[in-house]
Amino acid sequence: MTKSDTPADETAAVKPGAAQAAKHKIAVLGAGPAGAGAAFYLSQREDVDVALYERGPRVGGNAASFQIDGVWCDHGSHRFHPIAEPRIKNEVRRLLGDDFLTRPRHGRILLQGRWIHFPLKPIDLLLRIKKTFAFALAFDTIKKILPKKKPQQETFATILEGGLGPAMSEAFYFPYVEKLWGLKPSELAVKLAHRRVSGSSVFKILLKIARQIPGLKSPTSGVFHYPRKGFGQITEAFAQAAVDNGATLKLGAEITAIERDGDRVTGLRYKDSNGEHHVTYDSVWTTLPLSLMARMIEPPPPQAVLDAANAIKFRGMILIYLVLETDQFSEYDAHYFPELSVPISRMSETKNYYAGKEPRNRTVLCAELPADPSDDYWSMTDDELGNLYCQWLADMGLPVTAPVVKTETRRLKFAYPVYSRGYEEHFNVLDEWISSLNGLLSFGRQGLFAHDNTHHALAMAIGAVDCLETGGNFDEALWAEKRLEFESHVVED
Ligand SMILES: Cc1cc2nc3c(=O)[nH]c(=O)nc-3n(C[C@H](O)[C@H](O)[C@H](O)COP(=O)(O)OP(=O)(O)OC[C@H]3O[C@@H](n4cnc5c(N)ncnc54)[C@H](O)[C@@H]3O)c2cc1C
Repeated sequence: MTKSDTPADETAAVKPGAAQAAKHKIAVLGAGPAGAGAAFYLSQREDVDVALYERGPRVGGNAASFQIDGVWCDHGSHRFHPIAEPRIKNEVRRLLGDDFLTRPRHGRILLQGRWIHFPLKPIDLLLRIKKTFAFALAFDTIKKILPKKKPQQETFATILEGGLGPAMSEAFYFPYVEKLWGLKPSELAVKLAHRRVSGSSVFKILLKIARQIPGLKSPTSGVFHYPRKGFGQITEAFAQAAVDNGATLKLGAEITAIERDGDRVTGLRYKDSNGEHHVTYDSVWTTLPLSLMARMIEPPPPQAVLDAANAIKFRGMILIYLVLETDQFSEYDAHYFPELSVPISRMSETKNYYAGKEPRNRTVLCAELPADPSDDYWSMTDDELGNLYCQWLADMGLPVTAPVVKTETRRLKFAYPVYSRGYEEHFNVLDEWISSLNGLLSFGRQGLFAHDNTHHALAMAIGAVDCLETGGNFDEALWAEKRLEFESHVVED
């Protein structure tokens, strides 16, 4: 039920004829990196009053952290990539101080029964890769210089085969993407190859390998940044700084409706432990999943827009945390499992990310199991998933020998936007209608349906705030330019 006794701090800001000095009231929806970042940069503005709403009990969204038995854990492997633009990296460093660690990357990939260091290292690669596979790669590379016919229709698969050749595509990328997205490579859109695969050509991969050679090494290769108290410390720092600057943060506040009058957004409804509330705003900036958000708009969008919202999909993920009675399971930060023989795509041991010594006799192994709510895995108990996980590790030659204290799980319904072939048509219908509403801005990974890293989500937040003119007008032309820049973001793993 909607409450009529709206608290004093939630009263309407848009009053016809209000004094010019009135602050522009903005609600930011979702306190992941994009929302918390936007709240922080908005809170630095004298002319803006900002409130940040988050459904969960903590900020961070998919990039949040929490402790299990005293060990900091993330929603799967999360690293802050040094390639982030300097103003973002500097802000994160300033907010976290000494807690912003720089760590060497030390992972490995299981490929054709062999463990290969990741990031790839020239000597390791030469020694460990199967000779037959090495010949196939060399053959594909030579073939690349010969003229060839362009495929009739480009897909993710044709772009990768064209760039990397069949051997690398079939051994590594094709099974990996099928596992991540639950679709065959031929069913995936071209855009995925550009946005998701940073090494999408032989040349780019060779360059990355060369950058691991001492002497050619750049300061950003082979290292990553990680906060001492889990990756979520980044978003927490942004949210705290926003609150310190006067922003309101509402946790446990689930948005249930975004209200409009014609083509102008006028406010929202949210529910918390005290019931449902109605609040008016000048602008609503949302980082909620685009399709979910569109269905919340009242009065509802035209049927064609709702149909488009139903047609675009997000891939879910189950995170399985195996708590072991030992100091350390392995020396590696992450293990990557590209092949389809095992359903998990990656395993991370966060204690190795932040070089944690405490607590003694405990470590947590987090497995990423891509799955949708309709899959059998989704309804399994923690123990059932824990047992399967131990079996998968044993099958890959990584038996769990330490006692298992317990298994915990988390389920993300919105882990990856699914770039299936033809998704753009639906996205464009949705995007065009949402963009036509005054006072509504959708951004962030879920809000722009962009498969992005955290530094990209923060770049979107800064970009949005840059477009807000004094007085509250939003510069749409500048936002269109920013969105073109966001299109060039490429995901780092
Ligand atoms: C497995 C995995 C590994 C990743 N690894 C990395 C990595 O190594 N490095 C990196 O930089 N990035 C990584 N990412 C990406 C990173 O998590 C995202 O870029 C980041 O979380 C995007 O932030 P966001 O704020 O746009 O969205 P989100 O983090 O999804 O935040 C959206 C927020 O909206 C909230 N919300 C949703 N519905 C409602 C509602 N009705 N009412 C109120 N609030 C609501 C959610 O609870 C959430 O907090 C990874 C992602 C995944 C899934």
